[in-house]
Parts: sequence; structure tokens; C-alpha cells
Amino acid sequence: MWIDTHCHLDAAEFDADRDAVRQSARAAGVTRCVIPAVHAAHWAEVAKLAERHGDAYALGIHPLYVPQAQEADLLALDLALTERRDDPRLVAVGEIGLDFFVPELCSPDMRERQWFFYTTQLKLAQKHSLPVVLHVRRSADLLLKGLRQCPVVSGIAHAFNGSTQQAQAFVDMGFALGFGGTLTYERSLQLRRLACELPLSALVLETDAPDIPPQWLYQTAEQRALGATQGCNSPAELPRIAQVLAGLRGLPLTDLAAATSANACRVLPQLAALYHHAP
Ligand SMILES: [Zn+2]
Repeated sequence: MWIDTHCHLDAAEFDADRDAVRQSARAAGVTRCVIPAVHAAHWAEVAKLAERHGDAYALGIHPLYVPQAQEADLLALDLALTERRDDPRLVAVGEIGLDFFVPELCSPDMRERQWFFYTTQLKLAQKHSLPVVLHVRRSADLLLKGLRQCPVVSGIAHAFNGSTQQAQAFVDMGFALGFGGTLTYERSLQLRRLACELPLSALVLETDAPDIPPQWLYQTAEQRALGATQGCNSPAELPRIAQVLAGLRGLPLTDLAAATSANACRVLPQLAALYHHAP
């Protein structure tokens, strides 16, 4: 039994076969997915999807959607979190964070705007006693600074790809680190080392589907030029990604499944109640 702690099942890439994608993940042993929202227009959709498939969801404004987001969306988020307070499937505020990789988000104005949306959403997580699901891209130190100013109960640093020190700082704040498809590439030396060095209690698994295809789905630019289509990542890939991590750590797959599921339930406490109830 596996938990995909980060899966964008609401993404347009799944419009044609969303239910089938979720079903094949279930058949592969992925019993729970956490579906983080990326902007206000999708909040109702992720809640509906979680309800339909026995999954969990998070509500937030993703840093890549900060340019088109309105400040009123933050008030709407506060309201949505209040209205859904008793929904057992609402497990976190997310996906929120900072992205200093995408050039358009790196101007001084945009950095400031990202910081405003990130810190305001941290305050909402604190107010509603919810964990956060963090998008970390060239931004770990600033994200940590925000958390020190406004501590939250716990959370996940998703698609983590930072240093050991940064990883430890997140762990010290009650966070788990999300590992996924990037781990499946042999050239991900630093990330693989980190995934082996960290205590098992710090790790959760994720696909980030439809993004971050694992190595076996990835088509190079040359292959695509020859007509191959980029493989679409899906939550059904989680067990195979887990197999890579189990191999790297020299751990039985069943132990990794039990540990990462327990970790996910620890950092997203609402998930525990869902996880232990069928289906
Ligand atoms: Zn994401």
C-alpha cells in the first residue's frame, strides 16, 4: 500500500482519462493520493476529485500562479479553509512556496509578490492549524526563513532537491521531504546520496504527476524530434519509483511502504484517519 503525497490529478493532461488514471494507480497499490491545488479556480475541483476517489487534497496558490492571482484570492482561501474545516479530506494548505528558477518570477517585484503570497498563506495555515505542502525551487533558505517567522504544525517540502543542511532544517521544523521521479535518474547523484543519508523517518514519496516523468518514461529532445511523445507521468508510477529508493537504501520494499506511509500520516495528521479507513 502506497501514498502518493503529491499528485496533480486535476491537471488538464488527465482530462481524457482521469478516472482510469486513478484506477490504475489503485490497482498498482496506491491507496491514497494527496491532490494539491495550484490556484483558486481549482479548489472546488480538487475537493471533488478527492471525494470521488477516496483521496485527500490541499488548498492554496502555487508560486507559478502568483502572477495572475489576486489579493482577494487570499481572502477567499481563508474563507474556503473555514468552510471546509470539518472536511476530513482537507489535509494541508498547498501548494505554496517560492520559485526562483523560472526567469519571469525572479524580477524584484515578482520576488516580493511571491514572498507576500507565501507568507500570507503560511499565516493562514497557522490560523487554521494545518500543515503546508511546499514548492521548493532555488528557494529553500527563504522558505525556511518564512517558517521561522511563522511556524506551522508540520508539512512536506515537495520535490526536495537541496543540501543536507537545508533538509535537516526542514526536518527540525517537523517537515518530511518529498522524493519522486528525479531519484530515478542515475545522474541525480547528490539527490540520491541525500535520499540515502537522511533518516527513513524524514522521507515521503510522490510522483508530482503529470510532471517529473521517471527515467523510464523520459524521452530526450532527439527522441521527440524523431516522433516519440513525452511519456505522461501518473500516480501508478509510484511503486516503481519506490523500488529505486528501496534499492538505493538496501531496504525491503514492504518496509519502505510502511515507513513512508507512516511518515505521510505523521506530517499530514488528517491523512491518518483516511488511510486507516477503507476503501
Ligand atoms: Zn506540484
